[in-house]
Amino acid sequence: MIDAVFFDIDDTLYDTSGFAKLARKAALNSMIDAGLPMEQDEAYILLREIIDEKGSNYDKHFNVLTKRVFGEEKPLLIALGMITYHNVKFALLRLFPNTVSSLIYLKGKGYTLGVISNGITIKQWEKLIRLGLHHFFEEVVTSQEAGVEKPNEKIFQLALDRMGCEAERSVMIGNKFNEDIMGALNVGMSAILVNSELKDSEREYLKKENLNVEVIKDLGEIKNIL
Ligand SMILES: [Mg+2]
Repeated sequence: MIDAVFFDIDDTLYDTSGFAKLARKAALNSMIDAGLPMEQDEAYILLREIIDEKGSNYDKHFNVLTKRVFGEEKPLLIALGMITYHNVKFALLRLFPNTVSSLIYLKGKGYTLGVISNGITIKQWEKLIRLGLHHFFEEVVTSQEAGVEKPNEKIFQLALDRMGCEAERSVMIGNKFNEDIMGALNVGMSAILVNSELKDSEREYLKKENLNVEVIKDLGEIKNIL
């Protein structure tokens, strides 16, 4: 018997990766127009390197980029990059199909809904508000608040405590096998993988450990499980 359903945000409720790439390229174009002496492809490779190095939640990628190119930070270029990135990102922010109808369905069935997300608290709330989803969730627990990221069990435990739920009666829905699925299973929750597929090695591991994970292509398929 399940009474609480937890969701990851990025690439689970909406398409993060697709629009982030477009927004980064648009940001670099505006910086190139204003004097960044690089081709777009070359600039994108450098930006990707900086993101991989510093993590996607670091907020000074463009500062580092101008410093690497010019030997010092260029405030005008940094501001242009940041503004263009945010404008394009929010213009393109779209939910995956069936996200809202699935949340309404789950609410209607009486489940309590929460979010467990690796990210900065205000940024994650901002996404939920812009997507029109903030009223659906009782609790939004982030890695910033927990002090650790998924798959660390502390963030799952914090979310369960805040919602007053037991792990055995809760399910986690997310797109990353290690962070969302293994993190949840390790605290005793069940787990549903969405927008992603199990690799052979992951399928074998689950079989060996006698663990069950549902895999769905789209949030609309939740209705077949919950
Ligand atoms: Mg995700």
